[in-house]
Amino acid sequence: MGTRYPRSPWPPRDRPVPASLAGRTDTTLSNEPDRLCWKWTANGTYSGQSCCSATFHGSTLCCSWKLVWKSWAPLQVRFFHWLANQDCCCTADRLARRGLQHHPCCLLCDQAPETIQHLVLACPFARQAWHVTLAWLHIPAPAPEHDPSVMDWWLHAKDTTPPTQRKALQSVALLVPWMIWKHMNEFVFDNVTPSTTRLLDKIKDKIRWWAKAGTQGLKSCPAPILACPLICMIVL
Ligand SMILES: [Zn+2]
Repeated sequence: MGTRYPRSPWPPRDRPVPASLAGRTDTTLSNEPDRLCWKWTANGTYSGQSCCSATFHGSTLCCSWKLVWKSWAPLQVRFFHWLANQDCCCTADRLARRGLQHHPCCLLCDQAPETIQHLVLACPFARQAWHVTLAWLHIPAPAPEHDPSVMDWWLHAKDTTPPTQRKALQSVALLVPWMIWKHMNEFVFDNVTPSTTRLLDKIKDKIRWWAKAGTQGLKSCPAPILACPLICMIVL
């Protein structure tokens, strides 16, 4: 038999009843029968189109939808970017705004306050990851420096990237921030010391796996890059 909890009194005794629920003075009662009124159209008549529009009521626009949802990446990576673009990841600045326990500086570099922009773009740790990954894949786009978001960097980076490598650039734009985020979390939760060497090895491994799994952009990378290092050693 489950635990039973007392039902809380509503409205709370120490709060007044909201005006919208209290007796409204502009409502006139009559003897006419009640009728349904559809509030999503001006004339109160239901339509399928208005019903569809109503489902988007209160929705927000994510400006990076094309990068997030039109690129090849596992769902959890896309979801991370969707949150990061809305500054909804639990970085130190966000924890501080909510009065929660947080560290004063970035855990990877210990040089600046931790924000999502710093962590995935401006941190020296992140900048090295971007620079080495782009160079390794022979993508001529500049690494992020003072860009406000991954989306902003991607928009101008793709202009300097040949069309044949733009899909690879999109995958890199999603993969590198995700791997930095995971690396930082390994430090927080597993006490693993941050290391750019280990981070870059993991990024390269992940690129090989993504290429095998089917991402078209990364499949076009030079074959030696995508080959398993162990196989290369045996062949050599
Ligand atoms: Zn940092």
